[in-house]
Amino acid sequence: MIEILHEKPAAPPETFAYRDLVGGEFWRHIPAYRDVDETMFLDHLWQQRHSVKTPEELLETIRDLASPEFIRDAELGFKRAPMAVRVSPYAIALVDWKDPYRDPIRRQFIPVASALLPDHPRLTLDSLHEQADSPVPGLVHRYVDKALFLPLTVCPVYCRFCTRSYAIGPDTENVDKVGLAKTPRQWHDAFAYIASRPELEDIVISGGDAYQLPPKNLELIGSALLDIPHVRRMRFATKGPAIMPMKLISDHAWVDALTAIVDRGRTMGKDVVVHTHFNAPEEITEITQRALRILFERGIFVRNQSVLIRGVNDDPERMQRLVKRLGYVHVHAYYVYMHDMVKGVEDLRTTIQTAVDVEKFVRGSTAGFNTPTFVCDAPGGGGKRDVHSYERYDRENGIAVYAAPSVKPGKAFIYFDPIDQLSPAARERWKDEVVREEMIHEALRNAGVRDEALVVA
Ligand SMILES: *Cc1c(COP(=O)(O)O)cnc(C)c1O
Ligand code: SF4
Repeated sequence: MIEILHEKPAAPPETFAYRDLVGGEFWRHIPAYRDVDETMFLDHLWQQRHSVKTPEELLETIRDLASPEFIRDAELGFKRAPMAVRVSPYAIALVDWKDPYRDPIRRQFIPVASALLPDHPRLTLDSLHEQADSPVPGLVHRYVDKALFLPLTVCPVYCRFCTRSYAIGPDTENVDKVGLAKTPRQWHDAFAYIASRPELEDIVISGGDAYQLPPKNLELIGSALLDIPHVRRMRFATKGPAIMPMKLISDHAWVDALTAIVDRGRTMGKDVVVHTHFNAPEEITEITQRALRILFERGIFVRNQSVLIRGVNDDPERMQRLVKRLGYVHVHAYYVYMHDMVKGVEDLRTTIQTAVDVEKFVRGSTAGFNTPTFVCDAPGGGGKRDVHSYERYDRENGIAVYAAPSVKPGKAFIYFDPIDQLSPAARERWKDEVVREEMIHEALRNAGVRDEALVVA
């Protein structure tokens, strides 16, 4: 018998909600998938072939599950969006079509015109200034010891909020995309640059999305980077596990190619991991659990980077559930990013204060190594900053000033909260161009920035 000195009350039932994963043939309620059996639904090629890219395909797939008003709204949304649309059947099947306006998966992938808000006056297309830190096409060298390699511009889905909407996906009515290096011959310049810079120890392979690399190119990139003596760490970034987890179950060639690189890295004393991108707890199902178990058994470490998105995960309890559910399926929650200041998605951004509040609630819910750091990738190229580390945050007007001494010494960076989330008085002030500039000057003065030539925006 153990003698319990101070009894901790039993955990209430809702504590375990994060373990309730959707299972069974949940896709069968979608009219177009009614006759799709499990083997077909888990086939990654079937998933790719049946991805929804146009309003017509959406209508064909869900038929009368959503109202005609919603479909018309989406038609207009598709036209105005800076990103092309592409949604996997897996994601379509997880949307609650009875309430598509509020659904967290719909919000991420399918634009509707009625929800669009005017852009913030300080928004840009490439808010992180990645092109300014790019020595050769498809490589961003911003931090001293790590670089971002962008070997392709396609993804298994397109996210409305993509920070790289300047380059990712096919051209849209609103954006002609910047060309990145997309072929093995073009990648050569990126490898040569990395080889020429001994300070580069850490390479993020993103894009685009490593899911879309054929196995031989995955191995080609992995081997070329492992062969550079000073490269010690690599991460393959892919949204795939979040929106098409079945590829890890049915695309044996791809998973074997990844495993081969991880194993080869291990024999060389080099660390190769996967970074993925879950945003909503609903994205994690029993299929996800099965898929990630395969990587876990092969010793492939997976970290997650989320974006804080209004109506998707900006509620403390929903973020806590996401973080705990990730841990439950062997994924380490690494970062939660402030939504970047990109065009056409103002309805998805949140305030810095929201990030601070959500972080406060989440920290303490689970293991520290499964607790994400909330970061703001400073607009203008300051790199990721802990959201709490602002020099000054004018909550009333929604202006946060950051510094990045080891990335861009002496410079100042500003993140602006979405205007519709501010008080009515502040919203009025933002309408006046003179008042607006004065508010920004004042926030900078209060942050101790003496010379405004040092502000990057
Ligand atoms: C995010 C990022 C990295 C990796 O940063 P970590 O904080 O180590 O995850 C590297 N290069 C660029 C340009 C990035 O944006
Ligand atoms: S998967 Fe990543 S790179 Fe592709 S659209 Fe989404 S956020 Fe952008």
